[in-house]
Amino acid sequence: DSADIDREVTSICPFCGVGCQVSLKVKDDKVKYVEGINGPANEGRLCVKGRFGFDYIHHPHRLTKPLIRRDDAPGKGLNVDPANWQAHFREATWDEALDAAAGGWTALTERHGGRAIAGFGSAKCTNEEAYLFQKLIRQGFGHNNVDHCTRLCHASSVAALLENVGSGAVTATFNEIEHADVAIVIGANPVENHPVAATYFKQFTKRGGKLIVMDPRGVGLRRFATHMLKFRPGADVAMLNAIMATIVEEELYDRQYIAAYTENWEAERAHLAAFSPEKMAEVCGIPAEELRAVAREFATARAGMIFWGMGISQHIHGTDNSRCLISLALMCGHVGRPGTGLHPLRGQNNVQGASDAGLIPMFLPDYQTVTDDRIRGHFAKIWGASDFSAEKGLTVTEILDAVHAGQVRGMYILGENPAMSDPDLTHAREALAKLEHLVVQDIFLTETANYADVILPASAFYEKDGTVTNTNRQVQIGRAAVAPPGEARADWAITAALANRLGLNWSYAHPSEVFAEMKRGMPSLDNITWERLEREGAVTYPSLSPEDPGQPIVFGSGFPREGGRARFTPAMVIPPAELPDADYPMILTTGRQLEHWHTGSMTRRATVLDAVEPEANCSMHPATLARLGVEPGDPVRLTTRRGAIEIMARADRAIAEDMVFVPFAFVEAAANILTNPALDPVGKIPEFKFAAVKVEKI
Ligand code: SF4
Repeated sequence: DSADIDREVTSICPFCGVGCQVSLKVKDDKVKYVEGINGPANEGRLCVKGRFGFDYIHHPHRLTKPLIRRDDAPGKGLNVDPANWQAHFREATWDEALDAAAGGWTALTERHGGRAIAGFGSAKCTNEEAYLFQKLIRQGFGHNNVDHCTRLCHASSVAALLENVGSGAVTATFNEIEHADVAIVIGANPVENHPVAATYFKQFTKRGGKLIVMDPRGVGLRRFATHMLKFRPGADVAMLNAIMATIVEEELYDRQYIAAYTENWEAERAHLAAFSPEKMAEVCGIPAEELRAVAREFATARAGMIFWGMGISQHIHGTDNSRCLISLALMCGHVGRPGTGLHPLRGQNNVQGASDAGLIPMFLPDYQTVTDDRIRGHFAKIWGASDFSAEKGLTVTEILDAVHAGQVRGMYILGENPAMSDPDLTHAREALAKLEHLVVQDIFLTETANYADVILPASAFYEKDGTVTNTNRQVQIGRAAVAPPGEARADWAITAALANRLGLNWSYAHPSEVFAEMKRGMPSLDNITWERLEREGAVTYPSLSPEDPGQPIVFGSGFPREGGRARFTPAMVIPPAELPDADYPMILTTGRQLEHWHTGSMTRRATVLDAVEPEANCSMHPATLARLGVEPGDPVRLTTRRGAIEIMARADRAIAEDMVFVPFAFVEAAANILTNPALDPVGKIPEFKFAAVKVEKI
């Protein structure tokens, strides 16, 4: 009832990459409830997180004043009770905290040079905030040691897309499935992780579309699938090569498309000869006839799409997995037309935009390489700054290794929670404890903030203005509905204040001025202005004119690579870095669950979501539980070579009998204590989806 509210404000759900538009109903400066509105990605729909996951912003744990670590604090670590933080930190004025934050970095750079400082920005922040963050590290410290959680998410997908297609973004929006005949969803669980996108996938099957689901866990979409391929964990390349080998052998490929738009086909074709379905069936655990049937279904479709998620990207062969998916689409000519395309489903609400904005150690905004003197010169000119390092910076996990090695001594962490999200947490937490000067900017006293020297209270998404870019390349505008609590400030304003303490002389009155500056270095934003976004709510990039709402499908007439051709890059089968053995006989895989978002800092403080899913849990097949003598609801101990956790066990028939699935949102049983930090050599992404684990009844 509109009489119950003071105002309605339109914004974007802060959780997943679907980017649902919301109407926030505000009363007495509090968000009271949320409704979905007619955004391009959600058309009025919302999932449980968007609808009920908002009240964390009013939680009593919100940081409301800057904090500085007390001289007599009992040591850094996970021992700070958010309700009783005074033993560790003291309240400070903004001036004092900003001086302490910037002063600590300056002292380190004077002794050790700019490379002693590194930054983790956040995919939860706006485009403008991500842009300013990377600008601060590059301009302020002169190098490129700046990264964010894309490194733990789709870095390998982006590496493969840039290499072979020439652009890291999706080639078609997920809504294009409406025009497809066949769609493959592999290594993704959209029913839990992109729930509104999943509603479009289900609709597609109801009108006769053929859905092929491939995943070692039988994920929620299996009930809608024409084919469900529960392949052996880590056997993705073997399975995809076998499917492509069938297409070659049965000559189902699109000769014309391959000749017109691709290169390196002969090498791919020759490579695939070794991967017949009959040879690969045993390796991937799928009968040869089923592999052939799927190959025929996809290759002979008029229009086919491929969607993928972390099950593809979070492997040491994550880049190879994506190379296979790209090759599969290319050989069938399923790119650049309605109902076709490659779509890595992005995780956080702004992981696409934060990456576009240059929060990456090897790229400036719009994936322009830092090694190119002309490009660096262009940005230095825009910034009114001197040149900065041409050397690619360190990635997330490499930065923490560099802390252990004594090369990085200070950090600026905005909105990320590496004390929960990084692989092999013991190693990551030791690195955070070893830092000589850590500045954390966040809305809660997160596990990472427990290690901070200075904590700067920031704004929740519904407390600030800014643009975000969803998985569909749709740039959308988020608006402040309520004021931040106490003295908390918008993230962009905090970063700008820190920059000025470092002597950079920034002057922005509003995020729209930052957006205008970004446009000077980012061709992807051509024809997209703040005013247009205010007026239209969303514009998809690329937008070809001031009137064009943007292109949902790209690469219909060539690719942004030399010669306009996409490339086939053959992929070899590489086993996971750590295989099960007698001591650790099962396979650990990690991920998210519907109700909780990433490290849980927000959703575990959302009343409804926490009430539905309050306890750390892992899932195993009922037969596995029976073999262990464990009842559903009992605690078990999970041990890997990195550490052990105790956690409640659940039964789930969809999981293979040699697997255990653990969500990573629960600090009391943190999944990443267990995970393997081994990296994909190209995308530098850790192997979160495969580790050898021992499961014991407690
Ligand atoms: Fe939010 Fe994603 Fe759910 Fe939409 S699908 S409401 S963006 S969490």
